[in-house]
Amino acid sequence: MTEHAVEGSGHAPLASLVDEAARTTHGGGSAPPPPDEYDEGPLYAARKTIYPQSVHGTFRRIKWTVLVVTLGIYYLLPFVRWDRGPNAPHQAVLVDFPGRRFYFFFIEIWPQEVYYLTGLLIIAAVTLFLMNAVAGRVWCGYLCPQTVWTDLFVAIERWIQGDRREHLLADREPWTFERAARAASKHFWWIIIAWWTGGAWVLYFADAPTLVKNLATFQAPPVAYAFIGLLTFTTYTLAGWMREQVCIYMCPWPRIQAALTDEYALNVTYRYDRGEPRASLKKAAALHAAGRPAGDCIECLQCVHVCPTGVDIRGGADLGCIQCGLCIDACDAVMKKIGRPPRLIAYDTDVNIRNRQQGKPVFFKIVRTRTLLYAAIIALVGSVMTYALATRRSDGLSVIHDRNPMYVRLSDGGVRNAYAIRILNKTLQTQNFVLTLSGLPDAKVDVIGAEAGSGGDPVIEVGPDQTREMRVLVTTHAALAPEASIPIVFTVTAGNAGISAAAGDHFVGP
Ligand code: SF4
Ligand code: SF4
Repeated sequence: MTEHAVEGSGHAPLASLVDEAARTTHGGGSAPPPPDEYDEGPLYAARKTIYPQSVHGTFRRIKWTVLVVTLGIYYLLPFVRWDRGPNAPHQAVLVDFPGRRFYFFFIEIWPQEVYYLTGLLIIAAVTLFLMNAVAGRVWCGYLCPQTVWTDLFVAIERWIQGDRREHLLADREPWTFERAARAASKHFWWIIIAWWTGGAWVLYFADAPTLVKNLATFQAPPVAYAFIGLLTFTTYTLAGWMREQVCIYMCPWPRIQAALTDEYALNVTYRYDRGEPRASLKKAAALHAAGRPAGDCIECLQCVHVCPTGVDIRGGADLGCIQCGLCIDACDAVMKKIGRPPRLIAYDTDVNIRNRQQGKPVFFKIVRTRTLLYAAIIALVGSVMTYALATRRSDGLSVIHDRNPMYVRLSDGGVRNAYAIRILNKTLQTQNFVLTLSGLPDAKVDVIGAEAGSGGDPVIEVGPDQTREMRVLVTTHAALAPEASIPIVFTVTAGNAGISAAAGDHFVGP
């Protein structure tokens, strides 16, 4: 993979650095120049503004669709309601910090279940690997928030300041009132979008309609305004000003992706098997007339002009390329105009290009060891999480036997054991748990601080989303006292909620 190497890209071509290195270190076998003769210029040139040209075609349409769907979901999801019954919030997706819950439609995650988050992160990472193994940086080109918001900001810019040529020419002219007004209008709309983005983000942390009302009447908590301000600033800066620099310099994924890819992954590729040299129509005609070959590329540079990161993909795979496919659309339009077959630039593999050059059939190998492995990991982690979610309980019970003493002999000859029990109520309603004991017939069970219910068994009240620890005394008559340790089982049942939990321990005899 080459380093990013195009006019306007903002850093030096790798090839020129390599040439420079060769020239300075191996210059015909002569000794290297003294240090003060080295070029001490910076390794990175200052950023040159990129003016991406608009383009129409299949991949542009896919990108618009993805943009509308993803932004639509992001901005509207907090307003989707979901009925969870009394005492529970009715927002479909909610991070409820005061209630210590995360709600996602029918799924409810409790604080002690953060391991689900680990599972989700594993699935997200491996899905990214799988996407990369199938079609390179397709995530970056279509779904990454940086790409989506930058696309939207560039669309606003074009709408106000014109397409590439108009904007480029205007920027070379001195400032006029009209130019200043257009620039101000662009920044105004950018800030509005950035503000909506920050505003939508905080709606995921409280009841959205209520928070909107509170924000509008300045009654929302200060932290909500602070986060809106912070996200407005980051969105405006990253999508409006930094754009492709985030993808090229800040994001680690291109480097990781470059290490993960293989020769079968589909990447946006210039098909040099369609002939070289590249030449304008006129030059190509002259070359043909002289009996020399010419490629299909006519050097129109449309593929470079539409590129949001300023890459010339004809130079080979490039860390700056986000695989958005816009250069494919641009080149297809050119090929159509000049009557040559489309897909001179295409999602393809180097293996296929070599095969075409050698007259061998082309093939796409999506099912291979690494894609199967990634899919298997996703399926496995997903299945474990689904099973754990489907079988998890709404309550819990733990029992700890007193260690010292293990038992107490009473004056009437009976034997008593003491335990600490902890009952966890994960529901959002108060529950009355009835405690019963099995394994020790006719034993008397007393819970300190709890009354007996109508059935004679102790009833322990546990508040919503709370844990309660109680001390339990189990007493048996002298005649029934076991001579050694025997297993027993405590059970708590909240009949009205249809939930129960059990925990085993031992009753220790003399
Ligand atoms: S758009 Fe196509 S024809 Fe034009 S320079 Fe790019 S690859 Fe060549
Ligand atoms: S080279 Fe093509 S695919 Fe890559 S970022 Fe530029 S336009 Fe998108």
